[in-house]
Amino acid sequence: MSNTLYVNGKWVSPVEGQTCDVISPADGHLVATVAEATAPDVELAIKAARTAFDSGEFTSWSFEKRSDLVSKIADLMERDLKILAKLESDDTGKRLIEAEYDIADVIACFRHFAEIGKKEHDRVVNVGIEHIDSRVVQEPVGVCTLIGPWNYPLLQVSWKVAPALVAGCTFIVKPAELTPSTAIHLFKLIDEAGVPAGVANLILGKGSSIGDLLTADPRIDLVSFTGSLGIGQRIMSLASKTIKKVALELGGKNPNIIFADADLDAAIDNAVTAGFLHSGQVCSAGTRLVVEKSIHQKVVSEIALRAKEIKVGGPDSTEAETGPLISANHLNKVQEYVDKAVAEGAKLLVGGKKLTEGDFAKGNFFPPTVLDGCNTKMSCVQDESFGPVITVETFETEAEAIAIANDTIYGLSGAVWTKDDAKAKRVSRALRHGTVWVNDYGPYKPQAEWGGFKASGIGRELGEHGLSEFLESKHIWTNNMPAKSGWFAER
Ligand code: NAD
Repeated sequence: MSNTLYVNGKWVSPVEGQTCDVISPADGHLVATVAEATAPDVELAIKAARTAFDSGEFTSWSFEKRSDLVSKIADLMERDLKILAKLESDDTGKRLIEAEYDIADVIACFRHFAEIGKKEHDRVVNVGIEHIDSRVVQEPVGVCTLIGPWNYPLLQVSWKVAPALVAGCTFIVKPAELTPSTAIHLFKLIDEAGVPAGVANLILGKGSSIGDLLTADPRIDLVSFTGSLGIGQRIMSLASKTIKKVALELGGKNPNIIFADADLDAAIDNAVTAGFLHSGQVCSAGTRLVVEKSIHQKVVSEIALRAKEIKVGGPDSTEAETGPLISANHLNKVQEYVDKAVAEGAKLLVGGKKLTEGDFAKGNFFPPTVLDGCNTKMSCVQDESFGPVITVETFETEAEAIAIANDTIYGLSGAVWTKDDAKAKRVSRALRHGTVWVNDYGPYKPQAEWGGFKASGIGRELGEHGLSEFLESKHIWTNNMPAKSGWFAER
């Protein structure tokens, strides 16, 4: 279908008529053909979003009214949960059940922002002068470009769309070109819910061709981006020209520290999930196992055993526990990453070679892989693979564990496993990462902020801060008894 761009409240075909095929990462079949936008489409979308914002209509709605709109979209998503999950599963190759969890999380995100949108947003400042009314009010930041990745396509976009709507912003969404289908369906629901024309616009296409147009344009006030470090750096540098606001959710290289006094059954089981869930295509994947030397052998041999038993397959497989990598290009990158690690001296315990036999040849499959004998100087420890690869490092002291875990340019998430509460507290506070799990790995809730220290990003999504990203604070000082200032002499 070519009319899959949504601009100024209408479904339209791209001006230059280009289309793009969505290919299943599991078996290479054609999932969909969608519009591919070029510069004229971007121009129309920016114009629509800017005009809608400047008209002041949506901005003048109360927070309450906009929150109701977001609740309505959540209701519609609940109605269409199965449809959305199937679209997500087809595009990403992940199992339907995983996609259903993702869509449930999307709905929870919309509900969260609808709820906090209804809180009081104005703050009265007590300046101690009776006739002065001093208050800080919250206003929408303006026109936003919202760009998402392919690993959790609708979820990552929803972390931006829901707060942008509650805040009263207008925006252009650009999902990853590999996985556009759920964004298209979301916009059908946005249309059905009655979002005013021009407020929400959908542009599909390659970041490499239209990304700069969507991020550098002076009519855009904020770019909220989730994706790789390199593109985040480019967006930040382009934004500097007009001091545009940026919110960046970038990569991670997340340490999972296991002390000898941990509940090892739970720690080992969670380490397997942390590294191999969604074949490691998770920004917070626990791919750096940092384990106390005295238990290294036991922990690593059990993880390797478990890794070997994980069943890989496409969404139609009844046995599969994890799915394919998103593209052949990405598969090759993961292979290169592992080959380089081995060349640098890492010991390959399990996995390590892309799967090419039988049905695997049709898709992009890589087996769960464990690399032992790693250290912080190796590129496999420093670089994000975004694949099912766990590297193993060892430590002897608590200080060493902390130093290893913080020896990364990233700072998205990490975990610490120990039965010693005081140690857990010390280590969790010492880690320079935006989320730290103690005796757990992976859970997040829309009520709590998500985001990275250091090169993992700028700003926070979710929580209350996730709404603040889309708001500007304005201080309004009203003098109810106007008088001369008396500063300069009157002549
Ligand atoms: P990517 O940077 O290649 O692409 C992300 C998006 O940016 C896509 O929509 C793409 O089309 C677009 N894009 C590409 N070039 C652009 C440009 N010049 N200007 C503007 N947009 C452009 O990332 P990806 O491969 O889709 O996603 C994987 C990365 O995302 C990983 O590094 C992962 O850690 C990160 N990620 C982070 C989080 C988080 O919460 N921190 C969540 C999910 C993914």
